[in-house]
Amino acid sequence: MPVFAQPGTEGSLHTFADRYENFIGGEWTKPVKGQYFANPTPVTGQIFTEVARGTGEDIELALDAAHAAAPAWGKTSPAERAGILNRIADRMEQNLEKLAVAESWENGKPIRECLAADIPLAIDHFRYYAGAIRAQEGRLSQIDEDTVAYHYHEPLGVVGQIIPWNFPILMAVWKLAPALAVGNAVVLKPAEQTPSSILVLVELFGDLLPPGVLNIVNGFGLEAGKPLASNKRIRKIAFTGETTTGRLIMQYASENLIPITLELGGKSPNIFFEDVMAADDAFRDKAEEGFTLFALNQGEVCTCPSRALLQESIADEFLERVVARTNSIVQGNPLDTDTQVGAQASNDQFEKIMSYLDIGRQEGAQVLTGGGPAEMSGDLAGGYYVQPTIFKGDNSMRIFQEEIFGPVVTVTTFSDYADAMRTANDTLYGLGAGVWSRNGNVAYRAGRDIQAGRVWVNNYHAYPAHAAFGGYKSSGIGRETHLMMLDHYQQTKNLLVSY
Ligand code: NAD
Repeated sequence: MPVFAQPGTEGSLHTFADRYENFIGGEWTKPVKGQYFANPTPVTGQIFTEVARGTGEDIELALDAAHAAAPAWGKTSPAERAGILNRIADRMEQNLEKLAVAESWENGKPIRECLAADIPLAIDHFRYYAGAIRAQEGRLSQIDEDTVAYHYHEPLGVVGQIIPWNFPILMAVWKLAPALAVGNAVVLKPAEQTPSSILVLVELFGDLLPPGVLNIVNGFGLEAGKPLASNKRIRKIAFTGETTTGRLIMQYASENLIPITLELGGKSPNIFFEDVMAADDAFRDKAEEGFTLFALNQGEVCTCPSRALLQESIADEFLERVVARTNSIVQGNPLDTDTQVGAQASNDQFEKIMSYLDIGRQEGAQVLTGGGPAEMSGDLAGGYYVQPTIFKGDNSMRIFQEEIFGPVVTVTTFSDYADAMRTANDTLYGLGAGVWSRNGNVAYRAGRDIQAGRVWVNNYHAYPAHAAFGGYKSSGIGRETHLMMLDHYQQTKNLLVSY
């Protein structure tokens, strides 16, 4: 299987620039304060580029550009905007491997995921919203013989978006595609750990949009994120990140009374009922595979199935099988298409996971496999690799309750259906959940009773554009993807007209 060359080396499909600026008003724009920050790759730990360190002054410039562009963009026809979104999708498709190399190198994720999932999904979101905006219709109601009520949509105007580092391109596109489709101008701040792949993306398609419709300001949370989220000149803030940061975003937004979408953390239960072991080989195989998805994207997934709940009667046998499967996961160079688990996105994240591995041991949880750094050789030795780890313990432990955001699953058992639901819902979070059972009654009831915005039944980790995604409880407010996302980015105008 192919190993893609490292960016900047011979044969590589992509070479990063030495330095990236902000993208404001259609131009690559130096930061007002003239400062830059280093961007290391988690694959080897080496710095591969530097990026503009934006501040409130850059946010104001971006908002100037966005406000100048918003009125005309908002008046373009849905067909015109849809055409542009489809052309963006075409460019991405033509550059799939280049984008995959950029994203894998910057984030540490396996390139097979970038090629098969992250980038194709991002492309599909542009296409989905291009279609959706052309299909959107207003409504008309007859109030009485003389009066009708028209309802139609208007863009909000200028919106702010702030994203995390775990799926840089996909998280950007989840937000950009619906916001642009309905006719908003956007100022987006990428995560400081992974700005470059988004800038590579904007290099590819930035010229397709009128100047000022899309603006990217790079930088850190308090320096660039807060001046954006608390700004009086935005009509909405959409945020994806940690629950603690989400609380701050809500406070900022309350000052200006603007709508928010918050996509926050999770601690998702993945529940295996006893009939799984009695099912046919294909189903059991799928369920075991569903368990090991805790290590997908190095566990840096908001819906990571990080708490596995096993029915007592099958726990020992099931665990024996999934430990063996976990031990056969191929970990290593993210640019190798055989690799299933790559590097954690940053040294900070690596250290955070290490501290949770210590906490788990101190709490008395049993390590069934993994439990430490994954040793690599050659230049990968400088990267941030963690062994896929299975802990067995109790749902009250910190490792069961706090988001680790690494390739770590905590396993506990349940006696019956009621016990499973109690344990599944005994968490601050409510983002995702998995249910595995051939018994339709059990599976549907669990889908109903679990307090989470997305419950995968007999599958896990699919993210189609046309399925709504979002959190219950401390996992967020609002939904992303799906048609309902359009409503999060537009006003409904009502005209009450009498003859
Ligand atoms: P984070 O909250 O630390 O940072 C997210 C973004 O917010 C970054 O761009 C950061 O610079 C910015 N930021 C930080 N402080 C800010 C402030 N005070 N004001 C404005 N902006 C600020 O989160 P992270 O570590 O980058 O991402 C991991 C988290 O994201 C996890 O909790 C994960 O579950 C969550 N996540 C959720 C979803 C979802 O859809 N629910 C998807 C992906 C990730």
